[in-house]
Amino acid sequence: MCDYNPRRFVVHKPDLCVDLHCHSTASDGVLSPAELLARAAERGVTHLALTDHDTLAGLAEARQAAQDCGVHLINGIELSCQWRQHTIHVVGLDVRDDDAPFLARVTQQTENRWARARLIADRLERLKVPDLVDRATAQAGGSVPGRPHFAAALVEAGAVKSPAQAFKRHLGAGKPGDVRAFWPPLEDVVAWILEAGGVPVLAHPRKYKMTATRLRDLVRDFQEAGGQGLEVMTSGQSPADLSFLADLCEKRGLWASQGSDFHFPGAPWCELGQGMGQALRLPDRLEPVWRHFRAPVVQPGG
Ligand code: MN
Ligand code: MN
Ligand code: MN
Repeated sequence: MCDYNPRRFVVHKPDLCVDLHCHSTASDGVLSPAELLARAAERGVTHLALTDHDTLAGLAEARQAAQDCGVHLINGIELSCQWRQHTIHVVGLDVRDDDAPFLARVTQQTENRWARARLIADRLERLKVPDLVDRATAQAGGSVPGRPHFAAALVEAGAVKSPAQAFKRHLGAGKPGDVRAFWPPLEDVVAWILEAGGVPVLAHPRKYKMTATRLRDLVRDFQEAGGQGLEVMTSGQSPADLSFLADLCEKRGLWASQGSDFHFPGAPWCELGQGMGQALRLPDRLEPVWRHFRAPVVQPGG
């Protein structure tokens, strides 16, 4: 938790506590946007970007809640895309949320997810589970279901004994329900974010389980496409990952970002304002991405 508490440290210069990656019920998070903002405020987060998967639907509620609890909200989104055979996530920070072409592309992206969900259900029709898309959607809390949600729905309907069995028989690699998501190329989503006035940031680079060489190729292609930021600190990475990414970020002259990728409360390894079990904080040698927002975020008094 960030240690700034305005009641305890009246003369203490308030520190920034910046978290630029998290999810609400508008995608696969468990807290509503308002609940998320309240939790961020409790945890001492001063600047939060809501970055739901392929949707801006949570932003209006988040903005109202941010005003109520005194947290500075930054518009955000996490867009899925394709690079070589990998699905890659690009966070768009400080995007304009009233940009008609961008909104149309985001709608298309959401529709891609629904089309895939319907196709998965079609492919599993022989299991004779009625209303499978609806059941999977319920498992996803009302947002677009992915394969884990279909697995849960199949368990609930008694078609399989466990999620593992659902994957082994019906949803895993090479099985009928293994429908590849249809995502646009990396360069396209980077261009969309730039056109909407935002900053494209390559999300959780260590999560793709790539070799260092391949990851450097990805970062090079991302940067050539106009990508500007690298998520250097996030949950679920090691100190070695952090130093590798910090070096890569500095060497490529990218702006550094940090975010918890918070989805739900109760996970000790992932909390708002934190990453790697400590307060989010970038190595001093890196250039923070938030200095490059349309309204730059600066250290108070600094
Ligand atoms: Mn997610
Ligand atoms: Mn992601
Ligand atoms: Mn995420």
